[in-house]
Formats: sequence, C-alpha cells, structure tokens
Amino acid sequence: MALMEAPANTSVWVSEENCKACDKCVDVCPAGVLVMRPAPNSVLGSMIQVAFGDDCIGCNECELICPDFAIFVADKKEHKFAKLKDEAKARAEAIRNNNYRLPAGY
Ligand code: SF4
Ligand code: SF4
Repeated sequence: MALMEAPANTSVWVSEENCKACDKCVDVCPAGVLVMRPAPNSVLGSMIQVAFGDDCIGCNECELICPDFAIFVADKKEHKFAKLKDEAKARAEAIRNNNYRLPAGY
C-alpha cells in the first residue's frame, strides 16, 4: 500500500527528497520503467526517474525493495497497469547494462 496519496492516472511515482540513489529499484524493475538520471546537485550525482510509467506492470518490486520509502506504486484496484512486453524487458536489460542510466537510442 502506498504511503502517500496517489497522483491521478499515475502508475508509479517518487519522493525525490527521500531517494538516496541506491539504484535498487531500477535493478529489480522487470519492465524498464525506472532509470537514474544525472543530478549534479544531489549528493550521489544521480536521481531516480520514472521514465516509462505507461509500461509499469504494477508488480510492486520497486516499492518493496526501496530502503528509503521513496517510491510508490498505485493500487491495482485504482489503476490499470500494462502487460509486460518484450520491448520493455529488453529495455530493462539495456538499462541495467548501462549502469542504470537510459542508453542512447531510447
Ligand atoms: S511496480 Fe514493477 S514494473 Fe512498475 S516500476 Fe515498480 S518494479 Fe517496475
Ligand atoms: S530504491 Fe529507493 S532510494 Fe534507491 S534509487 Fe530507488 S527510489 Fe531511490
């Protein structure tokens, strides 16, 4: 269950104040929804970003693994999630292989 109020029509959302840029949520996401974006002003130089929210399958893995309660997934009763597509799986692998950043070409 999400700890903060769900924005309308949003599958997954983040609290940037809480994110410690550990990459864990990006690593577990099977659908390539999440990436780390460069953030020169943050301590670790990067910040979580929901880049492909429309491809979120609502598996909740990101919310479960986040040690800082910084990422939230909509309730299945309130949001219609995507089905896992081959294209999304391939993107997830490409992101993992690119140090959790979005590779060129996406
Ligand atoms: S709920 Fe699952 S598919 Fe959606 S962003 Fe989190 S890990 Fe990825
Ligand atoms: S798991 Fe949590 S703290 Fe780590 S990058 Fe994702 S949102 Fe940030």
